[in-house]
Amino acid sequence: MKYQKLSNGQNIPLVGLGTWNIGGRFEKDLSKEKEEIKVIQEAIKLGIGHIDTAEIYGNGQTETEVGTAIRDFERKNLFITTKVWNSNLHYGDVIQSLERSLKRLQTDYVDLYLIHWPNPNIPIKETIEAMEHLVDKGKVKSIGVSNFSVKEIKDAKKYLKKQKIVVNQIEYNLLSREAEKELIPFCKKNNIAIISYRPLAKGDLANDKIKVLRNVARKYDKTSAQIALKWLISRNIIVIPKSTNIDHLKQNLDIFDWELKKEDIENLEKTIPSM
Ligand code: NAP
Repeated sequence: MKYQKLSNGQNIPLVGLGTWNIGGRFEKDLSKEKEEIKVIQEAIKLGIGHIDTAEIYGNGQTETEVGTAIRDFERKNLFITTKVWNSNLHYGDVIQSLERSLKRLQTDYVDLYLIHWPNPNIPIKETIEAMEHLVDKGKVKSIGVSNFSVKEIKDAKKYLKKQKIVVNQIEYNLLSREAEKELIPFCKKNNIAIISYRPLAKGDLANDKIKVLRNVARKYDKTSAQIALKWLISRNIIVIPKSTNIDHLKQNLDIFDWELKKEDIENLEKTIPSM
């Protein structure tokens, strides 16, 4: 595994495991609990010790499954991210949300705590103060945001006293490149790392339906999914593909000891229509 150093000095693994739709979507789904816990454990054994979850996923069930899965591993070798939902952004609600998340995750701290979505109806000052308090208490190592625009990041930064916003987690992949215009250059300039969610466009970049991706994959003896992830990694973007398939997990990790040629990158960027 390779790592990126965040602006506060913390190292984040470049590949993490997405967990949306593990343990349910917005409602709890316990029907595959045992298999899903086992897959998370397999992912960790394979080397994906970075797990991305959120309090909203499966209405808490996803964090519960992650908590059970990580129990038997050494905590210091893991990087756990969770997110506070945007109706819980008042000061006291943030604190309570994190406490509930820690309980479900069976851990004393999370490595990264993200504001899942901005909420214009709740003053960001309160949220930032609560996030900093949680760092002071040792319950959160780093704080970040998700789905924040340039303006929203600037607003949030005004209220930081000791910490930095180290990450913005956004939708970014070969089919979705809007963020390249303004958001990613702003984040780069301000030392805010980008985590790509939906790095495989929910599977659309992994199903071999895009001809140019399929052809480039064939050339490197890789899969379409690996090329799509490699394209992100080579731009210094952290990726969190979700998979509950062991072969896919192995593929998603095997994106380091080879490089895409410039002409293939150009071909992918020119040919794949971005929305
Ligand atoms: P994704 O990771 O782009 O795509 C997941 C889909 O790709 C699954 O159907 C998976 O199926 C398939 N897949 C994964 N690896 C593959 C491979 N090597 N070959 C073929 N198919 C493969 O979509 P996502 O789950 O929506 O996004 C990733 C994570 O980002 C989420 O799980 C979540 O943690 C996070 N997220 C955050 C936000 C936010 O607002 N911050 C929003 C959306 C998502 P299999 O399971 O069968 O492999």
